[in-house]
Parts: sequence; structure tokens; C-alpha cells
Amino acid sequence: MHPTDFTLRGAAEALSEGAISAVELTRAHLDAIEALNPRLNAYVTVAADQALDQARASDERRARGEAGPLEGLPLGIKDLFCTKGLRTTAGSRILGNFVPPYESTVSANLLRDGAVFLGKLNLDEFAMGSSNTSSAFGPVENPWSRRNHPDTRLVPGGSSGGSAAAVAARLALGATATDTGGSIRQPAAFCGIAGIKPTYGRCSRYGIVAFASSLDQAGPVARTVEDCALLLRSMSGFDPKDSTSADMPVPDFAAACGRSMKGLRIGVPKEYRLEGMPHEIEALWQQGLEWLREAGAETVEISLPHTKYALPTYYIVAPAEASSNLARYDGVRYGLRVEERDGDLKDLYERTRAEGFGAEVKRRIMIGTYVLSHGYYDAYYLKAQKVRALIKRDFDEAFGRVDAIVTPATPSAAFGMHEKTDDPVTMYLNDVFTVTANLAGLPGLAVPAGLDAQGLPLGLQVIGRAFDEETVFAVGAALERAADFTALPSVRAGA
Ligand code: GLN
Repeated sequence: MHPTDFTLRGAAEALSEGAISAVELTRAHLDAIEALNPRLNAYVTVAADQALDQARASDERRARGEAGPLEGLPLGIKDLFCTKGLRTTAGSRILGNFVPPYESTVSANLLRDGAVFLGKLNLDEFAMGSSNTSSAFGPVENPWSRRNHPDTRLVPGGSSGGSAAAVAARLALGATATDTGGSIRQPAAFCGIAGIKPTYGRCSRYGIVAFASSLDQAGPVARTVEDCALLLRSMSGFDPKDSTSADMPVPDFAAACGRSMKGLRIGVPKEYRLEGMPHEIEALWQQGLEWLREAGAETVEISLPHTKYALPTYYIVAPAEASSNLARYDGVRYGLRVEERDGDLKDLYERTRAEGFGAEVKRRIMIGTYVLSHGYYDAYYLKAQKVRALIKRDFDEAFGRVDAIVTPATPSAAFGMHEKTDDPVTMYLNDVFTVTANLAGLPGLAVPAGLDAQGLPLGLQVIGRAFDEETVFAVGAALERAADFTALPSVRAGA
């Protein structure tokens, strides 16, 4: 077996048995990155020397009997997490030369537990997108391809496209990601891997470049549900540096993966049956529900009546918060600075922002400032906040009757790099099944469950009650066992 083919759990065992060292495991991944990253463009920055130093230190800790829960495991970090002394770009020209003087809490937690960082992973600029085509560092390619058109380059999804592509192609055992409207679950589904957006407040946002603060959540992507559980446990926990961080105990998520489905009630929201949705998606959904019934669960039709307002609500709230968060990039304090003409400070701001931001980010800033402006605030922003409350209430009522909700993860499989990309509204439809969990603050997990007719992965989504990731992991692991998803992407290390 090639060392890059290990699951996190498998690699942890091999390391503890002495079958492989952290240095060997890290080298195997760095070699794979060197061979495949020129094509996939999943990593923006490869931290080879630092990774090998960390791996050596990890082997020494293990020799001293001080191994942490993730000791010696090579991971990729989405380039939205600040890493001390290692360039952090958010996929933007405006932060292209930014080297943070501090570490995000989530990445610090992973380092505390012994992880090795291979480098920083590509993403849509400021995490705005569903295709990883808006990065200032170029698009990421999906390692999967269509059976009948193997030469069509496909998107990995976004915004965490680099994270999902790297993990699917075996350029990391797991990775961090963030999800504001679907950016963990949609790329995980497009790349045939698992990913969870935990409950809002579960992971600290400290040191994560802000997009929409009331929606942003960090979470892991990995090749198995259990691996996501292992990573999430390390990433989670109360942090006084984030005022929205939840002071809640962090359970042993991996232990929950083995729980029985007996007696569990699974909600099936009728509003997620979209007109014009490909038949394969509907068929996979029904198959997933059948698997859960066979495992002993009961499926119950439920209604989430405000679902149809979720996408428009998201595309008011998210740009509003983004326009405010991104006001800090003015050429004075961070990153890019384009010098002003005639000592005019406003000119400095304008030129820096005009050159530093890409088209999608500018579009969001304009929408956001518009919906927040005097005279429109009540009609758009305030109204969206009220609808958001109704969407949350739908879930509260549903969770009085069911323990988890299962839906498709995305309305389609991965699409071509030049399909959908010219029309922003078509692009926004990618998130139709995922934004609801962000608006309501709930945990949502994507799990690979089957292939479409072109041989591309399709995922199912499990949504749970706030802070009940354990049930989400249990249902996800049950789906994973039944689906027995063993297909592999055509571009991968060791192939
Ligand atoms: N695709 C959505 C957007 O463009 C969600 C992005 C995300 O979750 N970061 O806003």
C-alpha cells in the first residue's frame, strides 16, 4: 500500500506500531504534491521544509512517549486560516504577501495535537464561490473525470476546492476547510470525500479570514467519516478569543460513528425535492433512506416550508457581512498597497481595492453595501434577518419530531470549468441544499454515497440538531458503511 493511501486512523495506527515514521509519511505526501500539484493546483503554498521539521519533532515526541491524538499526521490547511510565519492569502491578490504574526486557534489546536502541516490550500477568493475558479492563484482541478469525456477539466467545488481536491488525490490525509454556505460539503461531495460543517460556535473563528461572521464555520474534510470525527475533535473547543465560541464539552465524535440506527427517526424534507433535479440525485437520496431503514431507522416525511427563501436570504446576509468585514483591506494595514496619486488617501484606498479584489468579491461588496444602505436596510437586510429566523424555526419544529435530516448534498455532480461560470446566479444555485444549515447554525455532513452515469461522485447530506454532531456522525457512518464507496479519482498519488 502506498503511504498516501492511509486513512487518518490507519496512519495513526501504523505510526504507533512503528511501521512508518512521521518523516516517511510526510515525505511521501510532499513527493505526491510535487508530482501532481502542478496539474491540480490544490496547494497555493507548499511548506516542505517546515513540514519535515515538524515531522522530525513529531517522531522525537513519539520516541519520548509524548504522542498526541494526531501525532505525525500530515494535513493541508485551507489558506483562509492564519498560520504564524507562513503566508496566508485567502486566495486574494490583496493578501498575496501577508505573513500572519499569529496562528488561528483551529490550526493551533491541530499543532498542539501533533499534526504536521504540508502547506496552504487553494480556495475561491475570500471563500466566495462554489467552483474554486475565483482564486487569484488560478483554478483548482477536480481529480475526478467524466467517463465519456475524460479530457473535460472539472471543478472541485468551492470554496474549499483545494482542500477537497488535495484529500481526494491523496496529497494530504485530511484538511481544514470552512463553510459559510456550503463550502465544506459541496466540494467534499464533488470530490468523493467526507466533510462536516459543525454547529456554529463549535470551532473558534479566531484567526480565520472573515467572510460572513454569523455564518462562517471551520470544519474538516477527509476520506472517511471517522477521519472527519478525529479531526473535528481536535479542531473544536471553547476559545475566549472568539466571542461566538461555544463553551460546550467536546465529545468523542469518533466513538459516535459506531452507534446503531435502531429507533432513530430520519426526516425527509419534501421541499428539497427540486423541479428539474437530475433523476440520479433523487434515486441516490431514496437509496440512502432505504439503507437507513435497513439499518433500523425510521424515515419520516417533514416540511421545512421556508426553504425556498434560503438562497435569497443567504445572498443578502452573506454579502452584507462580507462588505463590512472586507472594509479593513485598505492598503494601509494589510497586504497589497497601490500608491496614491497626489497624496490623496481616498485614491490609495480605491486603487488598492480595485487592483486587489477580483470580480466576484467586488460584486459581493457592491450587493452588501447596497442592502445595508439607508433606505434599503429595512427592505432587504432586516427582512432577510426575519426570514432567517423563520428558517431556523422550521428546523426547531422538525427536530421535535426527528433526530436527523437526510438530503442530497448538491443538486448536481461536479461540472466543467467553463460550464456555469459566466452566470453568477446559476452558480449560486449550487448551495441550495447547504445554505439552510448555515442560516440556522446547524451541523451538516456530506458523505460520498454513489456515482452518476459519468462515474462522478455524488454525496448525501446529514443535518443534525445544534451541538448534536454525534448523531450526525452516526447517521453519516451508517450511510458510508451501506454505500461502501470504493471508487477512486483518476488523478491520485500512488496510482
Ligand atoms: N458558495 C457559497 C458562496 O459563494 C458558499 C461559500 C462558502 O461556504 N464559503 O457564498
